[in-house]
Amino acid sequence: MVLTNKKFEEYSKVVCDKIIDVSEGERIAEKLIIELSNSKSGIGLAAPQIGITKSVCVINVKEPKPIVLINPEIVESNGEFIFKEGCLSYPKKAISVKRHAMIAVEADNLDEPLILDVRKGGNAADLLEIACVQHEIDHLSGITMFDRKYVKPTYRAPKKYGRNEKVVIIAKDSKSTKKIKYKKALPLINSGDWSLLTYKGQGHIPQ
Ligand SMILES: [Zn+2]
Repeated sequence: MVLTNKKFEEYSKVVCDKIIDVSEGERIAEKLIIELSNSKSGIGLAAPQIGITKSVCVINVKEPKPIVLINPEIVESNGEFIFKEGCLSYPKKAISVKRHAMIAVEADNLDEPLILDVRKGGNAADLLEIACVQHEIDHLSGITMFDRKYVKPTYRAPKKYGRNEKVVIIAKDSKSTKKIKYKKALPLINSGDWSLLTYKGQGHIPQ
């Protein structure tokens, strides 16, 4: 059973133990996949959410098979975007969280790193998947979406885009992105329905 609210409290801050034997991790992953398929809306689950404080999580957004991560570690990251997330352990809550737009994840059960990248945009499933992987890996370090709550800065830095410069914008519901010229993006951003998908280290100041 997925632990929620008060029942999840003691597990929500636990830094999970590393798995020594990958087959133990696979057994835990099987339990997680069953729990996930029992839930209506779940797309990811981490072991502490079912009361097991071991470093295993599963993600099932668009793969034919769920992604299983045993002792995962984000070894590279780049860019950022704001994404509205929910959590099976906090039903009916949704929080805006800042996530990396590119990650490389190493895990003991993977032969090569899992690389996810939405810096050039992506569809709803791509955005959901990269946010979900980061959300579940956070659970293994005792971090919840509330710890990463995004608070919009009150100071707005001057825009540094050229009118004909291509930018990537993200819809308010986080379900789609578009790559268009800044002059065409501006009215959409001003309407409040879209915002810039921002990148660190590329000369643009996140809005
Ligand atoms: Zn969660």
